[in-house]
Amino acid sequence: MTNQQVVKIPNAIVVADLAALLGVTPVDVIKELMKNGVMATINQVVDFDTAAIVATDMGFALEEDAPADTETADTEDQAEVPSTSLRIVDEGEGLVTRPPVITVLGHVDHGKTTLLDRIRRANVAAGEAGGITQHIGAYQATAPDGRLLTFIDTPGHEAFSQMRARGARVTDVAIVVVAADDGVMQQTREAIDHVRAAGVPLVIALNKIDANNANPDRAKQQLMELGLVPEEYGGDQIVVPTSAIKGEGIDELLENVLLVADMQTLTARVDQPARGVVLEAKTDRHRGVVATLLVQTGTLTVGDTVIAGMSVGRVKAMTAADGEKLKIAGPSTPVEVLGLDDVPASGERFEIRKDEKIARAEVEEHKRRRLAGLEERAAVTLDSLFGEIRKGSITDFNLVLKADVHGSVEPLVKTLEDLTLPDVRVRVIHAAVGSVTESDVQLSVAAKAVIIAFNSGVEPSARRLADAEKIEVREYRIIYDIIADVEKAVQGLLEPIFEERQDATIEVRQIFRVSRRNAIAGSYVREGTAVRGARCRVRRKGEVLHEGTIESLKRISDDARDVAAGLECGIVVSNFDSFEEGDEIVTYHLEQVR
Ligand code: GDP
Repeated sequence: MTNQQVVKIPNAIVVADLAALLGVTPVDVIKELMKNGVMATINQVVDFDTAAIVATDMGFALEEDAPADTETADTEDQAEVPSTSLRIVDEGEGLVTRPPVITVLGHVDHGKTTLLDRIRRANVAAGEAGGITQHIGAYQATAPDGRLLTFIDTPGHEAFSQMRARGARVTDVAIVVVAADDGVMQQTREAIDHVRAAGVPLVIALNKIDANNANPDRAKQQLMELGLVPEEYGGDQIVVPTSAIKGEGIDELLENVLLVADMQTLTARVDQPARGVVLEAKTDRHRGVVATLLVQTGTLTVGDTVIAGMSVGRVKAMTAADGEKLKIAGPSTPVEVLGLDDVPASGERFEIRKDEKIARAEVEEHKRRRLAGLEERAAVTLDSLFGEIRKGSITDFNLVLKADVHGSVEPLVKTLEDLTLPDVRVRVIHAAVGSVTESDVQLSVAAKAVIIAFNSGVEPSARRLADAEKIEVREYRIIYDIIADVEKAVQGLLEPIFEERQDATIEVRQIFRVSRRNAIAGSYVREGTAVRGARCRVRRKGEVLHEGTIESLKRISDDARDVAAGLECGIVVSNFDSFEEGDEIVTYHLEQVR
């Protein structure tokens, strides 16, 4: 800090201009802002205080280039702003464009970890903590144009869907890594299905293009078979060739990810208390609970009371992925936080509470309700799905299908999806060969799907998870049964199915004519109980003569509500008077079946 050059900064300045004024690159300014917990893009406006901190950190002395009176007013206005009073001023609306959050998925050994490491090493500002990037579950990288991206550091679709299963939408863009030598493999398909089920856009990193036996064309062909048509073949799937090991194609990858991210509106407020999700958490013997939180909106400040599921606590310290201590953290910033009293689950959402006592009381109440079973997740079964569709809370009937052989997968998917009716769409969100795995269950929780196992086993761990998460796993040996069940279910949506349940068989023994149009059947209840008002059929020698209801039922000469087996009674059937001795009256009721 020897450079004491004095610069004049207006009370609001664009990042690029600030960089020019200081004679540094915009990336340097963005990194410096990042260290202070401020997310800003190159074209964003920052206020004087923010610019001042950055400039001071970079060794400049500065002066504000603005009329004194406005400056005083501003300072007073900002008295409410917590901590370092850092703010991002973006068109005066408290909204910022936040960095996109990226998850990397793909088949094992295709290079996810190498890619994440490469991006981290090449594109992350080495922090002051000896230039060593810490592993905190997520980090931020800078694209060639200076924009930031937030990377979730746990690759794989289990983690991805586990987050979703808890209702957290974390990922803005997914990178699916496909090794050019290996091509599309089982977990590639799984990853793509998980991402699609989440409705998250994806970019393909066609990795290991340096490998001797790399065959990018074959991999692209396989992607096309999955409906991902690369741009060069006239589709809209972005495929970026990379070599994670050599660091090739990484910049292009980041640029393309940003391109895809730009198609979404990634704005967040900074002038509110933070909300976000727990990426991971553990207990450390010395530091207590260590949780990596991703701020999704608002600003997280040291001293805030955080509530995340069953855990609560005041933020004692916050550290960025590069080891930098932060006082505040804005949207899309991952931070390691100390101070929670319990380990929250990954994917649990967190919020800020003003009052710690109230927050604790809230957690106690939450615990009590959970213990009392009041907060159990509703089971996902074929039946419950119909119910939900009927209520209008979902429109798709999602299934995950596992089968023993490849030959049965395709036709089953086709047949099942053809069951689609105008109001209901049957979607097989994932179909593969093999037994049901934990990953299948995670996907089903996230997407509210029922699992169908056709001649394929269920891994014990998957079974346990399915039981815990209340996901129905239906095992079948015969294709027809699957189709029949799903069909029944889907049709059940449009028209409830009723089945007849027979209640009584009654013998007509004598006819009493009371008027021309009225006949009483003197009868004997052979089986069951005759009930007044019941639906009935009159049969003669096995043939049905009439359908009606029991209009009147008498025991001796008194009206009876019901008459049990072994007793005699007088019966009038609606709109029927031509009884003959020996006729049979059968009563029944309709029962709605699923
Ligand atoms: P992950 O299981 O998907 O996380 O895969 P890893 O990142 O662990 O990589 C698996 C193996 O592939 C390791 O031996 C890496 O060194 C190697 N690998 C990763 N990326 C590349 C690449 O671009 N080119 C080549 N030739 N090997 C790579």
